[in-house]
Amino acid sequence: MRIAVVEKDRCQPKKCQYECVTFCPVVRQGITECIQPGPDQGKAIISEELCIGCGICINKCPFDAIHITNLPEQLEEDLMHRYGENGFTLFRLPVPKAGRVIGLLGPNGIGKTTTIRILSGQEVPNMGDFEKKPTWDAVLSKYAGTELGDYLGRVSKGGVKTVVKPQYVDKLGRAVKGTVRDLLAKADERKVADKLVETFELGGVVDREIGHLSGGELQRLAIAAALAREADVYFIDEPSSYLDIHQRLKVARAIRDLAEEDGKAVVVIEHDLAVLDFLADNVHLVYGREGAYGIVTLPRPVRTAINVYLSGEMREENIRFRDSVIEFEEHPPRHQWTGTSLIQFPHLEKQQGEFHLATGAGEIKQGEVVGIVGPNATGKTTFVKMLAGAEKPTVGELAESVRVAYKPQYVKADIPDTVETLFYTALGKEYQSSFFQNEIARPLALKRLEQKVVSELSGGELQRVAIALCLGKDAELYLIDEPSAYLDVDQRMVAARTIRRAMEKKGRSALVVDHDVYFIDVLCDSLMVFGGKPGRAGVGSGPYDLREGMNQFLKDVDITFRRDRETLRPRVNKPGSRLDREQRSLGEYFYTKVGSDEE
Ligand code: ADP
Ligand code: SF4
Repeated sequence: MRIAVVEKDRCQPKKCQYECVTFCPVVRQGITECIQPGPDQGKAIISEELCIGCGICINKCPFDAIHITNLPEQLEEDLMHRYGENGFTLFRLPVPKAGRVIGLLGPNGIGKTTTIRILSGQEVPNMGDFEKKPTWDAVLSKYAGTELGDYLGRVSKGGVKTVVKPQYVDKLGRAVKGTVRDLLAKADERKVADKLVETFELGGVVDREIGHLSGGELQRLAIAAALAREADVYFIDEPSSYLDIHQRLKVARAIRDLAEEDGKAVVVIEHDLAVLDFLADNVHLVYGREGAYGIVTLPRPVRTAINVYLSGEMREENIRFRDSVIEFEEHPPRHQWTGTSLIQFPHLEKQQGEFHLATGAGEIKQGEVVGIVGPNATGKTTFVKMLAGAEKPTVGELAESVRVAYKPQYVKADIPDTVETLFYTALGKEYQSSFFQNEIARPLALKRLEQKVVSELSGGELQRVAIALCLGKDAELYLIDEPSAYLDVDQRMVAARTIRRAMEKKGRSALVVDHDVYFIDVLCDSLMVFGGKPGRAGVGSGPYDLREGMNQFLKDVDITFRRDRETLRPRVNKPGSRLDREQRSLGEYFYTKVGSDEE
């Protein structure tokens, strides 16, 4: 079967010459219905029956709006939903199971949210027939007698109560009025809110207005509110953005308990692979082409699913969905840094109202990427502001300061301009430089975003723009705060590579705050470790080499990681397991020498 997709937000007939229509060989033979201006502001409409799949229009479209793909005929049977003519198409669906956490793993724009919308009853699947209003009857008669048919049958009769924790918690802060306590009281059908407040460390903010919470607090509140409801199926979309690793694992534990102890069905979308690994029993990979179509695969045990995902290839199905393998190294890989010093700093202290920060002496080298790990609100930004000379230390003095560029953790989106205008305004001529275009814009796929309005970007798109804006600035030290938030696994790897190359090529240095240990592992040369009491007393030290930094940090968080025997990727050990005990006694929390056979 052939599917032709026109991404409506990319197709811009006002700004092109209808190259897609002009060059189509079928149109040239006089069959104009093959591709033509449609009723929606003249955006292109392609007839899948008449199109011969030559691919000329795909290449001619200046905005990359067209996708034409030939798919195996048998998939037609599995077409679950299509968003209108030439719209995104979803094939197959997973089935939630009581007592199990199932994960959905795939790139952004591949249909995971659409899947949740259907399984939670918000969208009736149309099985490709978008001209009529879809009815449950059609779906149920097609899937009668199957597990999916059974499940959807119950959904259609209102027999499955579902709760969704949405992906973007930032919006919650704007949309919901009242305090944390009010919201949780309303949600607390299972009478567990008090316990969740304690587990998720929300005690300090229960009387705060929701509009005044930080992203991490909003995330924990949103998850607590979802878990407090009484439902059969819980859909949790990206629970870890804005949380530190300690909080990620607490949240993951609470979600697992919901399935293990209370027998609920849980479906999660998560791009932090260490967290997904810990969280899910089975995982459905979702592959296809972003924005065009997505295919949900059968479930695999979580370990296998993640390994297959990293390998980029499903051998049994003979399908390759990525050209490259995502690889991990067993030992801290980077060479001993011998480069020139960018800045040396002595022991510093800073008192800021109630908050006190103390950091040890250290040095950052030119070209070095330093990871910063540790809880939120322990003074990481304050530290960098001191290096930049923007804040004066209360104790200690810096001989020099450095020019700093900054990507904040919460990226502001309320900008009415296009991405292109934003870049020209912020970077001027630098935007067109070959360095920016080749080393930053190309890998981060900015071309596809240029014509979009900033306020309409998705979370992952906005993140890529924000990273690029920061890297494009002329500075000596780049502070990049949580670049992985809302990026999918592939985009995280690309972001890591882009940041590294930008530093190496320009001889600049970066401090990257992030909580995804896979991301830290592939990105950083060394680590600074922050700790203490969030919001009250922060303590920072380093940079250390990766092994020492990870050991210090994970000892604090109280978890150990083993290495997967096939891919060498880090996996969280069960507390008290043989490996956990062994590694603790050796003081090796992360870079273990042996890959493990233990499941
Ligand atoms: P994911 O959750 O994997 O990021 P989504 O399910 O959100 O993917 O989206 C898959 C594709 O479907 C995207 O290209 C998106 O633009 C498109 N899409 C989502 N909702 C609609 C809609 N209501 N109408 C048309 N297209 C949509
Ligand atoms: Fe025409 Fe189809 Fe070729 Fe596009 S792919 S130019 S619509 S025949």
